[in-house]
Amino acid sequence: VVSQERIAADTYLLSFEPADRVGSEDTVGSAGFFEPAGIFEPGAIVGLALHPAGPSRWYSLAGGPAEGVLQVVFDVVPGGALTPALAALRPGDRLWASAPGGEFRDPGGRALWLAAGTGIAPFRSMVRAGRTAGKTLVHAARTRDSFLFAPEFAAAASAGAGRDAFRYVRCASRDAGEGLYPGRLTEYLSRVPELPEAERCLVCGSADFVVDVRDILIARGIPFEAIVSETYF
Ligand SMILES: Cc1cc2nc3c(=O)[nH]c(=O)nc-3n(C[C@H](O)[C@H](O)[C@H](O)COP(=O)(O)OP(=O)(O)OC[C@H]3O[C@@H](n4cnc5c(N)ncnc54)[C@H](O)[C@@H]3O)c2cc1C
Repeated sequence: VVSQERIAADTYLLSFEPADRVGSEDTVGSAGFFEPAGIFEPGAIVGLALHPAGPSRWYSLAGGPAEGVLQVVFDVVPGGALTPALAALRPGDRLWASAPGGEFRDPGGRALWLAAGTGIAPFRSMVRAGRTAGKTLVHAARTRDSFLFAPEFAAAASAGAGRDAFRYVRCASRDAGEGLYPGRLTEYLSRVPELPEAERCLVCGSADFVVDVRDILIARGIPFEAIVSETYF
């Protein structure tokens, strides 16, 4: 563990770096381990555990793919099997990580990125990899101060101009005011006169969120095959 940062009331940003490479029978979730440089494709997930025999859970990598240090962002689930212990980790502690895997990727082109809560993690990785051209990110959270990494996304949005500029939309279900859409992300998707032009829609969040968003996208004419989802369960 390199660092542990509390970034919201119950949300932590954990940074770690690959140390020892161990055999597949000792790793978590899948065979192998990070190469020492910690390189991965944005959108990848890792299995984390405090001990090979202990409970393991999946997390999206939230940092850039070549930063050396790996990051995950997680909510503490009270009484949860892993997250309270994950939040108690301190620099110098050790944890177990699987090789990066999963199939949630943005292959390029125009895309609509839809995230709720910590489901923002894979999109932060994509933005830190500089893959912002033609993307519109719509994030759902409750209040103005609960949009994780908002300054980073706002900076990416103000860096470009023109048709391919990165766009960043915040939907606040319990807040209103400058720069916020005052309502749920599902309301935004249902009511916005025209959805941004997109070859595909990437959706990341809880099962309820993914299902609700997918239904609205289909109702708005997006083909099922154009919807790619990562469900946190
Ligand atoms: C592919 C994939 C990627 C994921 N990526 C992330 C990620 O980047 N960040 C992240 O925070 N989580 C992510 N998750 C969820 C994560 O794997 C765990 O399920 C979560 O951290 C809870 O772990 P726990 O062991 O503490 O709780 P558990 O003991 O597993 O859960 C206890 C109870 O809490 C419920 N619960 C689970 N999550 C929440 C929550 N957020 N709020 C309220 N109740 C909850 C469970 O349904 C269960 O009933 C991902 C899941 C998958 C499948």
